Amino acid sequence: MEAIGLMYHDVVEHGVHRQSGFPTDDAATYKMSPALFDQHLGALSRSRPDGAITARELTRRITGSGGSHKRPLMITFDDGGKSSMYIAERLEQNGWRGHFFMTTGQIGDPAFLDADELRALHARGHVIGSHSHTHPLRMGALSASQLADEWGRSQDILEEILGERQPIASIPGGLYTREVARAARRAGVEILFTSEPTMRAWEVDGCLCLGRYFLKRTSPATEAGRYASGDPLLCYRQLAMWEAKKVFKKVAGPLYLRVRNAILRKS
Ligand SMILES: [Zn+2]
Repeated sequence: MEAIGLMYHDVVEHGVHRQSGFPTDDAATYKMSPALFDQHLGALSRSRPDGAITARELTRRITGSGGSHKRPLMITFDDGGKSSMYIAERLEQNGWRGHFFMTTGQIGDPAFLDADELRALHARGHVIGSHSHTHPLRMGALSASQLADEWGRSQDILEEILGERQPIASIPGGLYTREVARAARRAGVEILFTSEPTMRAWEVDGCLCLGRYFLKRTSPATEAGRYASGDPLLCYRQLAMWEAKKVFKKVAGPLYLRVRNAILRKS
């Protein structure tokens, strides 16, 4: 099965980016201005007149009730920043629903969603999922018990707020391993969005794993449109860069994060 996932974060003016989501310089590189986000939505609706669907609908399609496009489009937002409320409104104006992945340890922090907002988004048809409890930057490096704790705690909190288990999650930090997926499955996750830039879905112990293409603060709207239509050149370029970065991260390990942060502080 193939599907196209797009990964966004906050939508907030650059000057006040700390008002929504994580306050670091690294996080800021993924936060988009409202004006640019509007351009992205325009490009997406031009490139995909069939619209965007949610993972709930994807499950229905897998079990056989059809769907017009061979590669359904899903729009996701990581971290659970306060700007999710604005994003949801803009999506709804296009008749779309999004996926909001909440770092549950941040619920109620002024820069993040609170329980009432999560309930409101859920009631309006958006998908709420887990983005771990504490947002470890190297999820794949955690022990089995740490993974169980990150997914389990996060899932329990969302269940308490929304009244039912949410079978969906996305991985913080981008470091995917099969163990991360297995632990998510044990915590009740049936659909796991990763940061692997691929359209091809795969399964781990009954958990459907999906790739995503990330969009950053500087990504032009045309890029979003091209990813959404599955432009092979662009999709391959992100995959090639991702694989190269993976090799580098493996060699450099935690040093990579320190070097990256040091570079970002200077820029
Ligand atoms: Zn995140």
